[in-house]
Amino acid sequence: MWTKLKKLQNVDDYNKFLDSFETFLFDCDGVLWHGNTLLPRTRETLDLLKKRGKRIIFVTNNSSKSRKSYKKKLESHEIPAEEDEIFGSAYAAAVYLKQVVKFPSEQKVYVVGEEGIEAELDAEGIAHCGGTDPNDRQPMTAEDFETFDQDPSIGAVLCGIDFHFNYLKLCKAFTYLQNSKTLFLLTNDDSTYPSHGKKFPGAGSISSSLTFSTGRTPKSLGKPYSTMMDCIEAKLKFDKEKAVFIGDRLDTDILFAKNSNIKSLLVLTGVSTEREILADDAKILPDFYINQIGDLYQVDDK
Ligand code: PLP
Ligand code: CA
Repeated sequence: MWTKLKKLQNVDDYNKFLDSFETFLFDCDGVLWHGNTLLPRTRETLDLLKKRGKRIIFVTNNSSKSRKSYKKKLESHEIPAEEDEIFGSAYAAAVYLKQVVKFPSEQKVYVVGEEGIEAELDAEGIAHCGGTDPNDRQPMTAEDFETFDQDPSIGAVLCGIDFHFNYLKLCKAFTYLQNSKTLFLLTNDDSTYPSHGKKFPGAGSISSSLTFSTGRTPKSLGKPYSTMMDCIEAKLKFDKEKAVFIGDRLDTDILFAKNSNIKSLLVLTGVSTEREILADDAKILPDFYINQIGDLYQVDDK
């Protein structure tokens, strides 16, 4: 029997791990790649899983890209993927609005975010404004202060990473949220995200300016919350007992696996470190960990 927190470090471990599961859910950044750079032997490992008849699902908290653009990104690395095997936090938000909230067709979502959110709302037929609209990417004018009012057609404010976040958007979202009936949603509450070996403020740091000013707390839809798994399970059928989530971050990926009652593997190529999981006061622990995902390929390395 393997005890909790087993480090996979030889071919026997890798084979036993691979034989234990049918479905492999992959976080993307920090597991498959860093930004645009594929990590060593990622493609070979995914090919090996397919060859062994395993099911692969991709799950990312990055709301700036749609499933369509993730499919393109995967294919640019010669990793074939179907759109319905890809789940992003922008998609989870759109599905939540459509299927859970049953968002009325006469209402609009005010988007604080990028093209990924707009594309997923479009795909679910949900009207929206804000987002990449150039008018909302301008400095706030004196006239704006005078003309600002609540817009009854806005039924929700949906916040995600917004590389053009400014005071005008903050004021608009703040004003719409004054109406207690306006929903306040967040694609993912990551405090930070890594890029080019550095850390940058994540989507949670953008929504926190709204949380602070309005006193309201958004409903967060990405990992580690169960809504993301509800979204995956509503679209794909798989045996959770035979599924494993592979991620690089304890407070999103590994907690997500725990909240979803599935096993987890932490890779050491991203945010969380071996030191954190071996610490006496470690709170979130994976079932397994491994130096990098490409190590699994050693079972087939001739
Ligand atoms: N948020 C943003 C804005 C990102 O760019 C990324 C990674 O690229 C993430 C979150 C984390 O994504 P993942 O869940 O794939 O690690
Ligand atoms: Ca990650």
